[in-house]
Amino acid sequence: MAATSSLTEADRIATICNACRYCEGICAVFPAIESRRSFTDGDLNYFAHLCHACGACYVDCQFSPPHEFNVNLPRVLAALRAESFKAYAWPRALGGIFDRNGLWISLLATLCVAGFILAFVGLQSADALFGVDTAPGAFYRLMPHRAMVVVFGAAFLYAILAMALSVRRFWRDIARAEDRSALPSLWQATRDAGELRYLGGGGDGCRNTDDVTPDKRRLYHHLTFYGFLLCFASTAVATLYHYALGREAPYPWYDLPVVLGTLGGIGLTIGGCGLLVAKLRRNPAMEDLPRRGMDLAFILMLLLTGATGLLLLLLRATPAMGLLLALHLGVVFSLFITMPYSKFVHGLYRFAALLRYARDRRAGATIVE
Ligand code: SF4
Ligand code: SF4
Repeated sequence: MAATSSLTEADRIATICNACRYCEGICAVFPAIESRRSFTDGDLNYFAHLCHACGACYVDCQFSPPHEFNVNLPRVLAALRAESFKAYAWPRALGGIFDRNGLWISLLATLCVAGFILAFVGLQSADALFGVDTAPGAFYRLMPHRAMVVVFGAAFLYAILAMALSVRRFWRDIARAEDRSALPSLWQATRDAGELRYLGGGGDGCRNTDDVTPDKRRLYHHLTFYGFLLCFASTAVATLYHYALGREAPYPWYDLPVVLGTLGGIGLTIGGCGLLVAKLRRNPAMEDLPRRGMDLAFILMLLLTGATGLLLLLLRATPAMGLLLALHLGVVFSLFITMPYSKFVHGLYRFAALLRYARDRRAGATIVE
């Protein structure tokens, strides 16, 4: 990764924090900083993805602005995170999507929704789009099941491949060659990620100012994360129903795919709304403002995925079903194809950073040069 002003600034601030050590109990970033006397670019990117931007170290810091040391760890680590998404993207040529990310994601989502509406009209007719159809297989009379599987399967497999290769690059950069295998620490890292263990701001919750605010960001992250997993489980169960049991969607409200999808949609919608409000209320001094569009676009995509899914469930027996299906599929498809080039990758890099942290703790991290 080429040297950037964010890397230089992160190195300067980490060196000050290493001498100060006032914040060492707040989160995982400080013990990680304190385990070294000097930092490689990989180390700095590792710190960036360990940080949850809770703001506690900015609010507590005696050297934060207007002090001349100008220590602002949340902002510089946010800038570094955003730069690392582009630097580790696969293929590199598409890393440019992380510049003006909000605009790209909005454009692609609009094009995908328009594409599904046109495809429905092209495959069937405008009348079919606004007709009422409640019989089993109603969705597939608008778009054949096989076409859905091919289109979504290809997008999903590409996203998995691109993200796997990006995370591999990131891991090679942050994991030092002399260190031991991370495999024994996999369970600990999975637990830390599942609990959002370090999103507590040292126990008081996320901070915008000196006043401690309730730890709602952690709750909204949980709702969004587990909402996404439930929606994924709903799709997996529906696929089993289709191929193993020969049962076609739409399913009744009490059936497992609908129950899982409804709970997931509620989680995504409430969590997305909460994260959006928290983002808009965030103290701008701690934010990497030029890249705010990326955060907002990703939250909106998750929110739209949940909300359009719930609307489709509520109105599937009305003439709005065709349009809502196109809207929902368009949003989900654009979420899939933009996964490797949106803030979605932040979850994977965070997991890799937690894995290194768990591994270093297991090895009894000591100060190294
Ligand atoms: S953020 Fe400020 S108070 Fe905390 S360790 Fe760094 S320099 Fe010290
Ligand atoms: S913003 Fe929060 S998570 Fe990030 S370094 Fe500071 S205390 Fe740690």
